[in-house]
Amino acid sequence: MTNHVDIGLLRKYDRPGPRYTSYPTAPVWTEEFGEKEAREELLRSNNATPPRDLSLYFHIPFCESLCYFCGCSTIITRDKAKAEEYNDFLAREMGVIAPLTDKNRKVVQLHLGGGTPSSLTSSQTRKLFRNIDQHFTVDYKGGEISVEIDPRESSSDYLETLKSVGVNRISMGVQDFDPAVQTAVHRIQPLELTERVFRKCRELSFHSINIDLIYGLPFQTVEGFSKTLDQIVALSPDRIAVFNYAHVPWLKKHMVLIRESTLPPPDVKFALISLIGEKLGKAGYRFIGMDHFAKPDDELFRAQIDKTLYRNFQGYTTKKNADLLGMGVTAISMLNEAYWQNVKALPDYAARTLSGRIGAFRGFRLSKDDRMRREIISRIMCDLEIDRKNVLAPYGESFDDYFAREVGVLEEFVSDGLIEIAPDKILITSLGRIFLRNIAMVFDAYLKEAPKGPLFSRTL
Ligand code: SF4
Repeated sequence: MTNHVDIGLLRKYDRPGPRYTSYPTAPVWTEEFGEKEAREELLRSNNATPPRDLSLYFHIPFCESLCYFCGCSTIITRDKAKAEEYNDFLAREMGVIAPLTDKNRKVVQLHLGGGTPSSLTSSQTRKLFRNIDQHFTVDYKGGEISVEIDPRESSSDYLETLKSVGVNRISMGVQDFDPAVQTAVHRIQPLELTERVFRKCRELSFHSINIDLIYGLPFQTVEGFSKTLDQIVALSPDRIAVFNYAHVPWLKKHMVLIRESTLPPPDVKFALISLIGEKLGKAGYRFIGMDHFAKPDDELFRAQIDKTLYRNFQGYTTKKNADLLGMGVTAISMLNEAYWQNVKALPDYAARTLSGRIGAFRGFRLSKDDRMRREIISRIMCDLEIDRKNVLAPYGESFDDYFAREVGVLEEFVSDGLIEIAPDKILITSLGRIFLRNIAMVFDAYLKEAPKGPLFSRTL
């Protein structure tokens, strides 16, 4: 990664923009797509050629306390009875969704996210997996079975339970070990506690352990974050995701608890980005896409080399050929040709599942144009290049003809040193890697129609 950048360039490109975990992005989805459409799309997805695998996502919304930087859908509670009841709602939802999917479709990816999945007790977690097994055919041997854990709420008994039900990947949130930052974001998680949980996970031989960090948090400094990175490298996780803090108080009201004046300015953020690339690179990690790092033998890195990396709501994945079925309040489903989201309020979700209805309240059917643009945006975010000759071959279109206008717009990025245009490829430079979202935005047809900046966080 580049170590120097002109401050004018940072200012020029630091503007609101999507993170492109989907294209079209969620603000474009409409309520004209609801239960009926979700049901039709699920049935239709069974006929895809070649057949598509399944990826399941279960949203567990409960957290014991609120982290001020949180962008997830959470419900703050310590009442475990709520989780018990919620487990039943999930079972009901599986009872509606599973009969609409072909039983021969293998689940190659299963992920529990939140909120805090570890807010389910060990016995509640066992019950959830029993319910999943009753409804779906999970490939526990070859599949990725992962859970996001909060080290502050993960007892040894709970981790042993995860191992016993077939979980093979753990992802844990750390963000930053600096006490000043932890205090400012209302998440006190000492290094010793994280180390203890990490070691227990290693002892249990989970196939892969990921740690999430965030840069751009209040009071973050290069010195403080440098120390955090050293501490993380010493733990030696298999993957590290370093997200850019999205300060969107107009969307997430609790973020007003973070004073804007305490956030690092663009030049410090850039210094943090450079530091991350440098430290993790020296420690032997390979940079994946926009914000992930993995050891060289990790399949995420191999997928980047083989150009089979893909991006969805769970971030980067190697399972491109799987339809994602999201269950739980606010959960998102992504099929090849349609997306939808479940209702956002728990009482609505409860009412829907108890009456045997699908949770979808808004969604989107993708046109051919949408799917081609999604492909281009995915290649930018995953491969850091576009193969001009072949990228649109599966759609029977020529990239140069179809996107002639967009290629013209890219000239400005060439002048700024963010991309290079070769006869057969468009290549993103190491400087351009910092601005992947800006480059992807050129291919977003909906931003032009609705330049609603405040719907998104800033790109830098
Ligand atoms: S534990 Fe995770 S999901 Fe819960 S409030 Fe904190 S960041 Fe958000």
